[in-house]
Amino acid sequence: MVLPDPAASVDRPPEKPKLKWAVLVPFSAVVVLVVALFAYTTYRQQQQDLEHEARRVSSSIQYLYQKGLFDHAEILAAATESIVNNELMAAALIRNDRQRLLVLSRKHFSDIKAKYGITHWYFTDKSRVNLLRVHQPKRHGDKINRFTMMEAERTGSASYGMEIGPLGTFTLRYVYPWYVTNGETSTLIGYVEVGMEVEHLFDEIENMMDVGISVFIEKSLLTRERWEEGVKMLGRVPNWDRFENLVSTAFRQEKVSAPLLDQFASGGRSVDIKPLDMASGEINFRVVPVSLKDVRKEHIGFAVAFMDITSKSMAARGKVITALAIAIFVGLSLFAFFYRLLGETENRLLKADEKLREMATHDGLTGLLNHRMFQNQLEIESQRAARYGKQVTMLMIDVDFFKKVNDNYGHSTGDFVLKRISKLITDQCRNIDTICRYGGEEIAVLLPETPLEEGVHAAERIRMHIESDTFEGSGIENLKVSASIGVSAFPSHAGTPSELAQSADNALYVAKESGRNKVVAAEQA
Ligand code: GH3
Ligand code: MG
Ligand code: MG
Repeated sequence: MVLPDPAASVDRPPEKPKLKWAVLVPFSAVVVLVVALFAYTTYRQQQQDLEHEARRVSSSIQYLYQKGLFDHAEILAAATESIVNNELMAAALIRNDRQRLLVLSRKHFSDIKAKYGITHWYFTDKSRVNLLRVHQPKRHGDKINRFTMMEAERTGSASYGMEIGPLGTFTLRYVYPWYVTNGETSTLIGYVEVGMEVEHLFDEIENMMDVGISVFIEKSLLTRERWEEGVKMLGRVPNWDRFENLVSTAFRQEKVSAPLLDQFASGGRSVDIKPLDMASGEINFRVVPVSLKDVRKEHIGFAVAFMDITSKSMAARGKVITALAIAIFVGLSLFAFFYRLLGETENRLLKADEKLREMATHDGLTGLLNHRMFQNQLEIESQRAARYGKQVTMLMIDVDFFKKVNDNYGHSTGDFVLKRISKLITDQCRNIDTICRYGGEEIAVLLPETPLEEGVHAAERIRMHIESDTFEGSGIENLKVSASIGVSAFPSHAGTPSELAQSADNALYVAKESGRNKVVAAEQA
């Protein structure tokens, strides 16, 4: 039996629709994109949280530092108050009597040292020449040019502020211009200056903020020898060259680990105050340098906060990993689900397509090709025969008295007989032959490359097989059915395909008329 014309759309072999990948590729791309976007957003969020936290730490340190200086200046003011109430001291200052001043202040100094932590106490005359350092009586007679002193002189009122001492100490100074009032007039008699070391402020801030803080001073503000002297005085070993532009302040007990400090200060950070991330072993730090200013608002160094962000980064990482795991799981599940669903749909569509094609090309009862396919095939085979100079023979088979079969045994027996006859015919044909249900109980066969005589032989064989069949399974005993067959050939007995069908039909008519159960060949055209 010849395959139908490949040019006819219904006859093309059905293809499996490519639904699966058409859906799954863009779907996977979208899932991957969404997952990536989510991971990125989570990461960004965590970075923003950290930046926010770093800004908060930075501004808190600034605030607490300024607030600490102000609070301690109040203490210095209170201590000064207790000094300038002493008229004996005022008289001694007016007289420039440093011995007397020393006697008067020695005891008071140890009191306010114990009570307020005051470490410096100066009497300075009105032209800023130092008369007495109560804390260091041997040094005197020098002119005091510090900013706080100049401000007190310029404004005529108390001035305070933090200044870096030559040893690298953070010294808060309070300078009070001492006026005595006599009736209407008040006269400047000199200055009282008290001071204290305020590096412990950073310890307090450190405790309050729960971050490690390290304090650095710009080397340019110090002299190496004096600083080293100061460090040795504390019984420590100075290391001026440890960092490039900075020295770690020597007067605080450092809580931040030495390797972390080395890591931070390597490369010099005198102008870089951006936070940076560092790791020490398993621990991650965000390092927040806060520029420290002295009383002149000039940069003197850094308070560097080392925020332990290990748990935060772990939590963020955990969040990303969990989200990724969920996304991957959901993505894969959806993928598997769609893969199956689309696979099934593809198969269903393929089957439906195959069925549609089958229905469009075949007869539902006998499974033979339908009339439309016969016409197609007739066209193709006749063209081929013409081109190659061959014959194609057509058999037109009609069941004899089929109406009676229906009438006597019922329509379903009729159907059975039709199917059985189709099978008998098919069995007698080659697989290059075309067998079609031409109409009701008429079956047409095209035998390519077959001249009329061979077609007649084939028809005879078919006729005999029908005649001798017992139609077993029909439910009717001794059911006998015969068929008449008209045979014609193209181009020997018909000039066109439609003439071929017509002449086969004519021959069939003759077979019927001359008694049925016969094969009749067409007359020479
Ligand atoms: P003849 O020998 O002259 O061909 O007699 P006939 O009875 O076979 O011819 P006729 O054309 O009078 O009747 C054909 C009958 O075939 C009529 C119709 O009911 C029956 N038939 C056509 N198609 C089917 C079918 O699919 N199933 C069944 N059971 N019968 C069919
Ligand atoms: Mg008929
Ligand atoms: Mg008939």
